[in-house]
Amino acid sequence: AAKEAGRNTYQYYSQDALARTQRRLDIEHALNGAIDRDEFSLVYQPLVHAVGDQPPSIEALLRWESARLGPCSPAEFIPIAEKCGEIIRIGDWVLDEVCRQARVWQQAGLSFDRVAVNVSALQLRERGFAERVIALCNRHGWSPTRLELELTESALIRDTDALRQCFDVFERHGVPLAVDDFGTGFSNLHYLNRFPVQRLKIDRSFVQGMLHDAGTAEVTQAIVHLGHALGMRVVAEGVETPAEASMLQRQGCDELQGYLFSQPLRPREMVQWLRSSQEGEPGAHAAMIAVQ
Ligand code: C2E
Ligand code: MG
Ligand code: MG
Ligand code: MG
Repeated sequence: AAKEAGRNTYQYYSQDALARTQRRLDIEHALNGAIDRDEFSLVYQPLVHAVGDQPPSIEALLRWESARLGPCSPAEFIPIAEKCGEIIRIGDWVLDEVCRQARVWQQAGLSFDRVAVNVSALQLRERGFAERVIALCNRHGWSPTRLELELTESALIRDTDALRQCFDVFERHGVPLAVDDFGTGFSNLHYLNRFPVQRLKIDRSFVQGMLHDAGTAEVTQAIVHLGHALGMRVVAEGVETPAEASMLQRQGCDELQGYLFSQPLRPREMVQWLRSSQEGEPGAHAAMIAVQ
């Protein structure tokens, strides 16, 4: 009977692996031509200042509604798009669309600071990437100083000449860089001094744990101190409750992002959110934080 169970388990696992491989192939296949079929869109999530009334910033997040597979989350399809190389074209589409949208909103008189875009390590390594980013900004009349690129730690650990040249271009044009999901990746922090990073984004997992675990709250405090010591701004992502927000505010965190302030929004909803935050009471976000 044990042998029987063992064999069933084995079959079960192998079928599971088979299903995963099939899903991977389906996604890879469906990604092909997805741009031309207009299957991608962007949603936008605000980042608000923890203190004061300066205008918010906005992060663009990619959405994919495949004609064949239905909606598919970036957590699932981005790693596959990276493996099959399609991320380069998708990434270019995202940058183009973000610059276009930002310029439209700016011309409509909406007030916001910068737009942030997630960039994969593969895009950074692509020859001529930095020049392409600058050219895109110029084409849309969007200042490169207001286009922030969010990179993960894994994109920064390899210190190659190509990467350095890329960052030189960004620095020359004042493109701000942020380290996304900070604290979850690599423990060697040399890259923080090597590359022109302006912002650290504390990973959501720390924010979610900080109220329940004193050690985790120490980690967020340490990240804030580290960032400030290096002359950087610190952002917390995944802020869902007023209690989390007020603790982060007390720790000196500069900007906050998460469902407490807004979910990622369709462009039209984002316009409404920006309008109401512009017209709102001074310190509306700070008030949201204080309520607890
Ligand atoms: P990320 O850049 O760290 O984005 C934050 C993720 O957390 C987003 O998930 C967002 O919807 C979600 N989120 C925001 N606030 C909260 C909150 O309060 N609570 C919780 N539980 N979640 C929150 P999303 O949109 O599914 O994106 C997942 C990841 O996919 C992103 O993580 C980013 O790494 C990647 N991604 C998204 N768009 C792009 C893109 O255009 N290019 C690249 N290369 N990667 C992207
Ligand atoms: Mg991000
Ligand atoms: Mg993040
Ligand atoms: Mg994250």
